[in-house]
Amino acid sequence: MKIYWTASGEVHALKGIDAVFPSRSVTAVVGPSGSGKSSLLRILAGLDLATAGAVTIGGTNVAGAKARALRKVRRRFTGYVFQRPSDNLIPYLTVEGHMRQAARLRRTKLDSNSLLEQLGLQGRARHKPDQLSGGEQQRLAFAQAVVGNPYMVVADEPTSELDSRSAAALLETVSSLTDLGVSFVLSTHDPEVVKMADRTLHLRHGALEAESHEMRTLSVIDHSGRIQLPPGALELFPDRRGVIQVDSEGVRITPP
Ligand code: ADP
Ligand code: MG
Repeated sequence: MKIYWTASGEVHALKGIDAVFPSRSVTAVVGPSGSGKSSLLRILAGLDLATAGAVTIGGTNVAGAKARALRKVRRRFTGYVFQRPSDNLIPYLTVEGHMRQAARLRRTKLDSNSLLEQLGLQGRARHKPDQLSGGEQQRLAFAQAVVGNPYMVVADEPTSELDSRSAAALLETVSSLTDLGVSFVLSTHDPEVVKMADRTLHLRHGALEAESHEMRTLSVIDHSGRIQLPPGALELFPDRRGVIQVDSEGVRITPP
């Protein structure tokens, strides 16, 4: 659960989300703007704490963790890419400098060249962020998040600034790192990302509405037995009341 306290009151951004993100898998998180995608991603990456509930990252329970423990989780286990490319980058560092810094934080020996090449940034090593296009900044942000193959890389709409060719290159990098054991969580509005993901989580109003694998979509039933009607179904219930019949086959909800 995630609640934000603001001047105008409480915002219940996430409620009753129950999900596991296995290694070697790509999860796409979709949902309308304001549905809680970024809030969920920040918690998964150890950047923010849930208001309630348990969150385990790489075997460490980070619910209620101190800032120091969270920093360690971020350094060792997770990589994060902010939605706005420039938020990921430091103005005075070159592309090379960003990669060196990421490698230092992750205590890994760097082979950034192949990563930069894979992402089409090979000629840009000495450029600073303001000399890069939005798409190049986004790819650099992604490159520094995956340095050293953390357990999990969380990226907020990572292809939003990319043309289809750069997006394809980025998704190819995702695929090859998945084979090496990295788990990816990508929030997105991009059908290509959804297509390549192993599964898709559908968020609506901060709740996990459905989960889909390949062609099959399953509704999610939360701990208290709540289920969110699929889009369009609400119109059948203008009074917001329904009759529930349970039999051995399943559950049927009809207007009164
Ligand atoms: P999405 O990424 O799907 O657009 P967010 O996680 O950004 O959704 O937002 C979910 C809800 O939480 C929205 O109602 C948003 O206005 C609110 N929200 C997000 N971040 C904050 C914050 N730092 N302070 C207050 N409200 C926030
Ligand atoms: Mg968002």
